[in-house]
Amino acid sequence: MDKIKLETLGIEFELKGMKYYDLGFTNDMEKTGKHIFEDVENRAHIDPLIENGISKNNEAIGKFHSVIGFKDHFEYYVYYQDSKDKLMNTKVKGHEEAHVLHHCGKLQELKRELKKLGHSIDLSNSNNYSFSKKDPEYVAEIGSLLALEKAGFPILKLQVKSDNEGSYFSKIMGQSLQNYQNSYKNKLIPLRKTLWNLLY
Ligand SMILES: [Zn+2]
Repeated sequence: MDKIKLETLGIEFELKGMKYYDLGFTNDMEKTGKHIFEDVENRAHIDPLIENGISKNNEAIGKFHSVIGFKDHFEYYVYYQDSKDKLMNTKVKGHEEAHVLHHCGKLQELKRELKKLGHSIDLSNSNNYSFSKKDPEYVAEIGSLLALEKAGFPILKLQVKSDNEGSYFSKIMGQSLQNYQNSYKNKLIPLRKTLWNLLY
């Protein structure tokens, strides 16, 4: 069984039949998507079912696809636009990795990793991935923050630049950042109390 490695989340796991392809940063999201689609259509045993399709004028800066239709396995692909900015690139990659983890039913790996760093973030409503529900984006944003923290970015200093319309996505970003920062702060309170007790 191949080990699946999610680089920015720092998570490794095994899942029977799963193949994972991280295609890295690309300057042409649409072209990369088309390549994947052509390739899997050529190789699939039956008409492949590709979730989370590509579309023209798609402004997504990161993508993941899950593909079924092979005899003995299923495949996941991730790729992202290179924004030439380390924070943005880490964030986007972490976001897509978290989508994969959530989608393939391994959310517990993300929960375990958050717990290890002292976060208590409630993801219990999100156990089952659903394209129709809003929470996959919330889970993915939490994943992107974990990736940023692991890469050494100062989590407590991060702010969401809200766009003028206060779009759906910027709301989710704001909410996840707030929850992430708060659960980080909460972690520090008992420590401070303990010090206080020791000193006085
Ligand atoms: Zn997403």
